Amino acid sequence: MLSPLRASRWSAPQSRMNVSFEFFPPSTEEMDQTLWESIKRLEPLSPRFVSVTYGAGGSTRERTHATVKRLLGETSLVPAAHLTCVAATREEIDKIVANYHAIGVRHIVALRGDAAGGAGTRYAPHPDGYENAAALVAGIKMRFPDIEISVSAYPEKHPDSATVEADIDTLKAKVDAGATRAMTQFFFENDLYFRYLERVRKRGIDIPIVPGLIPVQNFKTMTAFAARAGASVPSWLAERFDGLENDAATRKLIAAAVAAEQVVDLVDRGVTDFHFYTMNRADLVYAICHLLGLRPIVKQAA
Ligand code: FAD
Repeated sequence: MLSPLRASRWSAPQSRMNVSFEFFPPSTEEMDQTLWESIKRLEPLSPRFVSVTYGAGGSTRERTHATVKRLLGETSLVPAAHLTCVAATREEIDKIVANYHAIGVRHIVALRGDAAGGAGTRYAPHPDGYENAAALVAGIKMRFPDIEISVSAYPEKHPDSATVEADIDTLKAKVDAGATRAMTQFFFENDLYFRYLERVRKRGIDIPIVPGLIPVQNFKTMTAFAARAGASVPSWLAERFDGLENDAATRKLIAAAVAAEQVVDLVDRGVTDFHFYTMNRADLVYAICHLLGLRPIVKQAA
C-alpha cells in the first residue's frame, strides 16, 4: 500500500487511460435530474463506454431501455446495456436484444442476475429462460455477432460460488461463449485483484479483466452493498470513515483520498482500464479521472 506522501508526489500517467462509467436507471424525477447532470459532467472525459444497469422487474427494464435510448439520442457516449436472465423467457430476452440492436446498441453487459427472491435465496433459472450468463452470451452472439459483450468477474468469488476456481470456470464459459471483456465486482485491496488476475491468466483467459472501483459516496450504503455482493470491506477503510457519520464534507475528502490511493497503486502496477460504479454521481469520479490524466475533450463544431 502506498503512503499518502508517495501518492502526493505521483504524476499522472503518460499514456491515455481508458475508463467506463456505470449508472443505474433513475426511479424518481429528482434522481433523473442527478443522473443527467452527472452524465453531462462526465461526458467530456470521453469514456470508452457508459453502462446502464438492469433490474428484473418490468418497470426497471423499461427505465434501462429509456436511459440507453436517451444516451444514444442526446449524447456522444457509447452505451452498454446491462441485461440479466432473471424471470424472463429466452423469447422475451431475445426481443429485448433485438430492440437494442435496432436502435443502435452494440454493447451488452450480459449477466445471470440475482435470485428473484432476493439476497440469500437460491437462484433458479426460468424454465424457458437462459440458464446462466454463458448461455445468454451465446444466445446474443448467435443472433448478433456485431454486439460486443462484457461480463462480470469476482476477485473475491461470487457468494453463490463454492470456490474461486469454480468461479473462474464460469468466467471461462462466458469467454468461450463470446464475451470479450469482464468488469470486476468492486474491491478495496488491490492484491486481491492481482492474485485473481494471475489465476485467471493461468486458466488461459486472456480478455481484459477491468477493475471495478466504487468511490465511497456513503460508507454505510456501500458496506450493505458489499455484504450482498461478497466484497470485503477492510477494517482500515472502516477506521478512515469512523466518526464522520455527521460530517459529509470530510467524508467526501476521505473518499477522494482513499480512491486516489487505490488508483495510483493500480496504475503503478500496470493497470490502464478502469470501470467506475458512479452511483449516478459525478464529482468523485471526475476527480479520480482528472488524477488519471483525463481532461475534457472539447469537440470542435464541424
Ligand atoms: P455468473 O458470473 O454467471 O455467476 C456468478 C458465480 O456464481 C459463478 O462464478 C458461479 O460459480 C456461481 N454460480 C452461478 N450459478 C450457480 C448455480 N446455479 N449454482 C452454484 N453456483 C452458481 N445485477 C443486476 O441485477 N443487474 C445489473 O445490471 C448488474 N450489473 C452488474 C455488473 C457487474 C460488473 C457486476 C460484477 C455485477 C452486476 N450485477 C447486476 C450483479 C449480478 O447480477 C449478480 O452478482 C448475480 O448474482 C450473478 O450474475 P453474474 O452474471 O455475475 O453471474
